[in-house]
Amino acid sequence: MNLRAGVFYDGTLAEPRHNVDIEIADGKIATIRPAAEGAKCDRSAACVTPGLVNAHVHLEMNGEPDTMGALAMMNQNQRMLAAVASARRSLEAGVTTVRDVGSSFGIGPAIRDAIDSGKIEGPRMRAAGAILCMTGGHGWFVGRQVDGPWDARKGVREQLAAGADCIKLVATGGVLTKGAVPGNAQLLPEELTAAIDEAHRHGLRVAAHAIGTEGIKNALRSGIDSIEHGHLLDDEAIALFKERNVYLVPTLTAPTCILEHAHEGRQPAFVIKKAEALAERMRENLRHAFQQGVKFAGGSDAGTPYNYHENYAYEVELMHTLLGMSPQQALNAATAVASDLIAIQRGVLQGGEAADLLLLDADITRDIKALARPLAVMKGGAFVGSAA
Ligand SMILES: [Zn+2]
Repeated sequence: MNLRAGVFYDGTLAEPRHNVDIEIADGKIATIRPAAEGAKCDRSAACVTPGLVNAHVHLEMNGEPDTMGALAMMNQNQRMLAAVASARRSLEAGVTTVRDVGSSFGIGPAIRDAIDSGKIEGPRMRAAGAILCMTGGHGWFVGRQVDGPWDARKGVREQLAAGADCIKLVATGGVLTKGAVPGNAQLLPEELTAAIDEAHRHGLRVAAHAIGTEGIKNALRSGIDSIEHGHLLDDEAIALFKERNVYLVPTLTAPTCILEHAHEGRQPAFVIKKAEALAERMRENLRHAFQQGVKFAGGSDAGTPYNYHENYAYEVELMHTLLGMSPQQALNAATAVASDLIAIQRGVLQGGEAADLLLLDADITRDIKALARPLAVMKGGAFVGSAA
């Protein structure tokens, strides 16, 4: 198959190319060359980009206003069905790879395997299984509560046994759990270190939910691979990020959506209060971190209030508008860099790489919202659903 692109972004920070033909064979990019007059062309678009990579999702959560209340009312079967639907909607919206960083009942790994074996439609996936948190810590009602280094190791081994191919640790309080203070550290350094060591021994990467300053630094010093949220980081944390080459997954959509819908009065008051306290500092701190050269990987926390799986393009837009990234830099964070973190495939459109791509109706540098309305989505060389 041959696709023609008016402007072509390969996911890296290389200069975009104009008027190119992309030859696809066996699900992969075969060649990319200047468009030739009269050459066969199956489909053309104003702009072609890699498929988006969302490094932070919860497929069993659906963006209900009271997300945790709604989840608590769902049994295992209902959560599984919700996750199946979220996976399909993500892919149809152009998200060709996701990392599920926390599910109950082994749903994440089961969905990943069902997608891989062609039973259901969805993005390429990594899945963490249950989050590991301290007893009563953020997310305890869906997580595996661990206390002490050996229990933390055992928690990792349990996720491994259940099919997890990455691990998620809770280093601080969070917004959606009643009583959990986002600024407070939770799992202790020795628990984080033990869990990270155990995961790394088995080749699994580890993400830490961390909003507060102390918990961010605890996780960074313990050898974490990515900090999720990171909203209250300071200059010392920025230095640690750079020294240890750790990714920051900003999840800007999460507090933004909570606050955009606060006036509707359908969310728990404590959620709005915590998001309000974080939003401004999040913008300033993360903007500063980006300017200082911290490596950002796109991830939205999809599933949290009003933060829908199919709206990941909004996170890319917010990295541009709130953090000051150029549209191409935001795309790079949400494709190549997020792929590097997840370590499935490279997330770049170059010869030999998977043909996961989007056909768009406008150049993203002129209109970043074009990512939110793909004309067609391709995964592994095949067009997805009705978009073909
Ligand atoms: Zn999350």
